[in-house]
Amino acid sequence: MSLIAGRCVDVEHPLVQHKLGMLRDRETSTHLFRELVNELTLLLTYEATKDMATEEVEVETPLERTTVHRISGKKVAVCPILRAGLGMLDGVLSLMSGARVGFIGLYRNEETLEPVEYYVKLPADVAARDVILLDPMLATGNSTAAAVKTVKDAGAQSVRVIALIAAPEGIERVTGEHPDVAIVVAGIDRELNQNGYILPGLGDAGDRLFGTK
Ligand code: URA
Repeated sequence: MSLIAGRCVDVEHPLVQHKLGMLRDRETSTHLFRELVNELTLLLTYEATKDMATEEVEVETPLERTTVHRISGKKVAVCPILRAGLGMLDGVLSLMSGARVGFIGLYRNEETLEPVEYYVKLPADVAARDVILLDPMLATGNSTAAAVKTVKDAGAQSVRVIALIAAPEGIERVTGEHPDVAIVVAGIDRELNQNGYILPGLGDAGDRLFGTK
């Protein structure tokens, strides 16, 4: 399975499904929730980066000279959408410590469900990087689509999205508006409720990550 632009990859690995199940449980503590988000993001990052180009280089092992593979080409900019995306940041950085980090502050107007941008700080050379956007809940897709537009307006040409759970409406919204973007998720859920929450979902990801409710 390779990443295809305009498509959503649902990672069905048993470890991912097991951890996602724990994450959904309302009895899961804030502490464990944070750990699970971190671990899940790490596993999803593995999937989201599987099509990165590599090149052959020569190294000396302690015994002999050999050919190894190194990731070639563009560097990565990882951009959490504030605030809940912050909980996913360490998971990516633990695999790609050299990545630059950008922040996109969006909140959702609870009446219109439309995103309101309040803060953007991207790496100066974001146009030359592969961008990985982090947004745990791809619900209406409004915020994610807006964040993709923000990084594209800054010059980014390669954008991937990692989310924990997506609603079908959110996937359609993002891929419809940005057919060049690949999405990787741990689960695709049934639907949105009238407040724009994903069902069955896991509740408010930000509140559960930061213990604000
Ligand atoms: N944001 C969340 O945190 N949870 C949802 O279900 C939808 C949006």
